[in-house]
Amino acid sequence: MLKYLKYIFLIFTLSTAQERDSVKIYFKDEVSPKVADVVQIDSLQYISCDELAEVLNGLYSYNSILKKGNIWLGNTRFQFTANSEFFTFFDTTKNSFTFAHTPFAIIFIDSLLFIEIETAVQQISKSTTIKIQLNPFIQIIAEKKSPPKEVEDKKKLDVAKKRLSEMQKLEAEKLKWMLDVIVIDPGHGGHDPGSIGVNGTLEKDVALGISAKLGRLIKQKLPEVEVLYTRTSDKFVELYKRGKFANEAKGKLFISIHCNSHEQKPSSPKGFEIYLLRPGKIAAAIRVAEKENEVVQLEENFSSRYQRITEDNFILLTLAQSGHLKQSEKFAEILEKEMSKKLETDSRGVKQAGFYVLVGASMPNVLVETGYLSNTGEEEVLSSQDGQQTIAKSIFEAIRLYKVMHENTMRGEI
Ligand SMILES: [Zn+2]
Repeated sequence: MLKYLKYIFLIFTLSTAQERDSVKIYFKDEVSPKVADVVQIDSLQYISCDELAEVLNGLYSYNSILKKGNIWLGNTRFQFTANSEFFTFFDTTKNSFTFAHTPFAIIFIDSLLFIEIETAVQQISKSTTIKIQLNPFIQIIAEKKSPPKEVEDKKKLDVAKKRLSEMQKLEAEKLKWMLDVIVIDPGHGGHDPGSIGVNGTLEKDVALGISAKLGRLIKQKLPEVEVLYTRTSDKFVELYKRGKFANEAKGKLFISIHCNSHEQKPSSPKGFEIYLLRPGKIAAAIRVAEKENEVVQLEENFSSRYQRITEDNFILLTLAQSGHLKQSEKFAEILEKEMSKKLETDSRGVKQAGFYVLVGASMPNVLVETGYLSNTGEEEVLSSQDGQQTIAKSIFEAIRLYKVMHENTMRGEI
């Protein structure tokens, strides 16, 4: 893709004759220009970012929650945010970022992002291998162009175009598999405290603490990944809304963070366990899921919204994520290994049960019970900043490994 794009030379020509202006883009060796609409705001011309991606033969992705757009040009990701004057260029081969600032912010109209044309031309020319020129003399450029007479040339061009479109499809497939958005779900919140420890530690606080630390680590060490949280404060969020949010944000991994508790307090059971969404078969695992699912009773109309997850209706209820089970399993396996390595507590293994919070998330997902609040020693670890940081680090390391493995596998398979 990059090799091909290197030799593309574009000329933008502005025509201001009509009400809604158009931009013509001439590719080197091509006769007919591609045309994109522009809008005029304060005597500046803006092009919609998805159209810009299209005319540059790039790929476009848009995150409606963050209002962020990405244009993928070969190995470069050009990222911009609604109402922001800052842009980033991420080079996926070097894993490096460049930041840019311009006086014209990205404009947001009807779910579309628009970029000022001169800004786009300057930034893309400066930070990618594509060279673009803005040419105000539309007529002259248009007249100078002459159609290729050789049939052979036309054939070559058709072959090249076909190849480019195939490559674009391939890139689009890869893009779908890139682990670029992670949704962290701190369990409970607001009037739902979750489990309560021997000394009064609340599960909702521990979950939020670990989640924030985990998110910070991802942002620091994997800056190309977006981190989103289902809650960032002590508020109640219905279980079904958590998965819905993750889907709308086009999350590629969903991690729900919780703490366990034994009925007897204090008591000796301790350790972490990782849950996959499957019909529960072991009584203890079913009990954990029932306890976590209990919270739906605090929601209005809960009985019409949630159905009991059984072996019989499991496939139907979890249809949206049937394609992600293998990845969820792989992530759970890596996570179990990393937590075992880094935490000074027992691994209770990877288990399965029917958690409502995982049902709605159409992406690889796991629920982590990070430890037992009913065990005095473990409660101390879970409530401490250091303890939470260690847990966050172990989850982060699993994400890092999973990301490399997942993206490499997908690259190989596609
Ligand atoms: Zn919980």
